[in-house]
Amino acid sequence: MALFPQRFIDDLKQQADIVVVIQDYVSLKRTGANYKGLCPFHGEKTPSFQVNRDKGFFHCFGCGVGGDVLKFLELHEKIGFADAVKLLAQRFGVPLPEMEQSDEQRANAAERETLLKVHEAAAAWFRQQLASNAGIRIRRQIEHRGVNEATSAALGLGYAPTNRDALKSALLQQGFSQATLLRAGLVVQREDGTVVDRFRNRLIIPICRDTGSVIAFGGRAVDPDQQPKYLNSPETPIYSKGRTLYGLNLSKNAIRQRKFAILVEGYFDFAQVYQAGFQGVVASCGTALTPQQAQQLRRFTTKVVLSFDPDAAGQGAAAKSCEMLVAEGFAVNVAVLPAGDDPDTFIRKRGSQGYAERLEHSTPYLEYLLDRAAANHNLNTDEGRVKFLGDMLPVAGRIPDAAMRDRFADRLAFKARVTDDVVRAEIRRAVVQRQDTFTRREVPSFGQVTKAEKGLIWLLVHQPEDSLEALAALDGVDFEGLAGRRILDLAQKLNEDKGFSPAALFERLTDADVQLVTAIASEGEAHVRDAHDCVRILKRLRWERERGAIQREIDRLQEVGALEGEKLQELLVRKYDVIQRIEALI
Ligand SMILES: [Zn+2]
Repeated sequence: MALFPQRFIDDLKQQADIVVVIQDYVSLKRTGANYKGLCPFHGEKTPSFQVNRDKGFFHCFGCGVGGDVLKFLELHEKIGFADAVKLLAQRFGVPLPEMEQSDEQRANAAERETLLKVHEAAAAWFRQQLASNAGIRIRRQIEHRGVNEATSAALGLGYAPTNRDALKSALLQQGFSQATLLRAGLVVQREDGTVVDRFRNRLIIPICRDTGSVIAFGGRAVDPDQQPKYLNSPETPIYSKGRTLYGLNLSKNAIRQRKFAILVEGYFDFAQVYQAGFQGVVASCGTALTPQQAQQLRRFTTKVVLSFDPDAAGQGAAAKSCEMLVAEGFAVNVAVLPAGDDPDTFIRKRGSQGYAERLEHSTPYLEYLLDRAAANHNLNTDEGRVKFLGDMLPVAGRIPDAAMRDRFADRLAFKARVTDDVVRAEIRRAVVQRQDTFTRREVPSFGQVTKAEKGLIWLLVHQPEDSLEALAALDGVDFEGLAGRRILDLAQKLNEDKGFSPAALFERLTDADVQLVTAIASEGEAHVRDAHDCVRILKRLRWERERGAIQREIDRLQEVGALEGEKLQELLVRKYDVIQRIEALI
């Protein structure tokens, strides 16, 4: 990891107002000393996401996530610490310090740079081929598919001619090495050692990052018997299929403005929907959406509309995408199309007006599922109702928002004609089963933290001077067994080095511990208001623990009949000493 000087990071965090940064993504309202909004990390209808501007941290009481401004960017943009620092510096116009990079980092950065350049050059070359005489047949095909020139240009469509190595020659001539072309997946090495173009006689669709840089290509067959129908770039250091959402570079602004995204499957669905004036569209490109792609989308909206062919619904990729999006907290609607139609064919037949109507009459996905499942089972029989519930309960268990889950339970109970208590109990069981595998369990639960610890941690963030002085009276043994021991221990060490600040805590603790700190610090006031009281209670707890241990040892000795002897005497003396200490602390 590239390391920035600590002073630079401190200065940057001073300048970067956490409220301003988070407001780029979440709309926040001021409530007293804090700002509140809907958590971007889990689906919710009532705000439990809080930002404390003065102390520079955020915390969500719903899902427990929390940290400083850099942590927010790391989580929200799915980037590492170094990239979060860069992004934040860029946002506030702070110049980055000269970086000391390792040779390896320099090499990686240089390689990615070269790969981006070669994709740019290849995209330009493919476009030229499409515009040339060689591309005339393909231009007609595009036109025939109802894609006009403006859309073709917006998508950057191109043509890879039939020659074995026309692209290779062109790019080598521009100074790119064969190794780069291989690494980019633009050429492939055959068994006999010859290196030829990957895409030959194909319509080329550039795949871009949301910034617009070309990072891969899709190649569509242009002859009826040509196989495969679609050929894609392989995964490369700059391209990961599961993390790229096709079209986001063209649609992100419209998605943000309209507050929802239309999700389609193929490139031509995208082209038609986009051309029909619905510019907030993205394509999953035939496979089910991944959680990483959902994260990409979440930066712009949490509402998605899918167009369904009712025949394909329920099995295919679209259904899987819906389920995943619901589980990720998205509001998902379904616009059902006539049987056999996809958005591409539908819009070409019925025009944009017809499609707009379908979008308008889209239904929430969960409703749609209920209706469809209800239609598939005979709800007049016990057997049918049991099967129907069996289909729907796992779906319900994956709904992340409790209020939404309750509404679903009501509808489910109504359809299945059982009491909603039964359905709710079953759903709760489904939710618990799901949460067993949930990583959030690594975070010590709030209840495990003693009030004194909570008090001390709260005060460390809000009134560091007093609490640090009080904390100095504790030692390592006092922290043993406490849920907050790593936090208190680090605070003490930082203080000894004269380097304590809440920001330093956020930076050096593990994510789970940071979440514990932000959870406690987001409370309106300290559970125990005086740091010295906290320290006294923690000391007492430590001696109570010790007394317990001594007593257990005494019990054990008595059990084995060693009623006299030095060992027992010694224990009794220690026990008396400990009791004295406890009493002194009351
Ligand atoms: Zn949350």
